[in-house]
Amino acid sequence: MKTFAVLLLFLQIGCSSSRNFPLFEYPLDWKDADVRSKTISDYSNYISGKKIFLDPGHGGEDRRNKSRNGVVVEADVNLRVALALKEYLEKAGATVFISRDKDTTVELGYRSVLANNSGADIFISIHHNAPGKTENDYTNYTSVYYHAKDGDYEYEPFDQDIARYIQRDLSYVMGNPGGLGSFDGTYSDYNIYPGQGFSVLRKTKIPAVLIEGAFHTSRIEELRLNNESFNRIQAWGIFRGLSKYFRAGIPTIALLTDSTKYESKKLSLSFLLSDKNEINHKTVAVYFNKMEVDYSFNKNTKVLSVKLEEVAEGEYPIRIICANKNGNHAFPYHKRIVITNNARVEVRD
Ligand SMILES: [Zn+2]
Repeated sequence: MKTFAVLLLFLQIGCSSSRNFPLFEYPLDWKDADVRSKTISDYSNYISGKKIFLDPGHGGEDRRNKSRNGVVVEADVNLRVALALKEYLEKAGATVFISRDKDTTVELGYRSVLANNSGADIFISIHHNAPGKTENDYTNYTSVYYHAKDGDYEYEPFDQDIARYIQRDLSYVMGNPGGLGSFDGTYSDYNIYPGQGFSVLRKTKIPAVLIEGAFHTSRIEELRLNNESFNRIQAWGIFRGLSKYFRAGIPTIALLTDSTKYESKKLSLSFLLSDKNEINHKTVAVYFNKMEVDYSFNKNTKVLSVKLEEVAEGEYPIRIICANKNGNHAFPYHKRIVITNNARVEVRD
């Protein structure tokens, strides 16, 4: 009986101490202010000069997404994470645009308009999730969405590259897994709305991702999403992922005007593909007038050549895809080739 009482006491202590168990960890490169500044300064080598558009979801008249006890409001969590992320990015030398910096109503369609007119390089929408029909209030994971699906013309591999980097560091600092619905926690928005995707990703014409940081409906997240330190750690994970993304390099594509020719309906175009990490030639794809066409790529000179026959005068969309050896794709290259009646060839945006 005595042993049982001691055991009971031990169990009680165990239980009470488990209530004090920390709900999250402070990342080693974040918790010390000096180390944090040093990390930001190191990453500024890659982030400085970049233009980032942040979109904290919901807000103002749209505050209906709440945790089970009603205390955690998704709109507020999104805003706190976005404002902390803005601070880190600006300290690292980036220019940051934001769709709202307070609890105010911004129509969904207008968020894309703001982003498209901002001159930003990348759009990041920040949200927190709620369970679907088959999930429950313990469902919780971190996910990052990109528009369309591999194989669709609208799919930009560039978007998924950014999603991968953000997903990895964000889920790591939160101690959350990615969802099992994808291999790496990144998802096509077609998984939610087949053939359509999220309107904010479809209507935003610059490279774009949408983060679902965690489930605000989860019993665990309910305990920590209103903690400002935790929101700053979430922002830190996104900042770190984005910095590592830029560190991995982004290939550039430039038309070589001197090698461009049009004669007897034959069109020759040449492009220089450059990257400090080398181009992975297996990733190159060229679409002329929305059809995939053959090309040749010289690994030594980095020159991509496209030769087309039976091309009438007119205007044609051209799209080129390539990635470097770290797997990062070039910014979407969508131009128009215009052949005028005096056989002049121009490339226009
Ligand atoms: Zn949301």
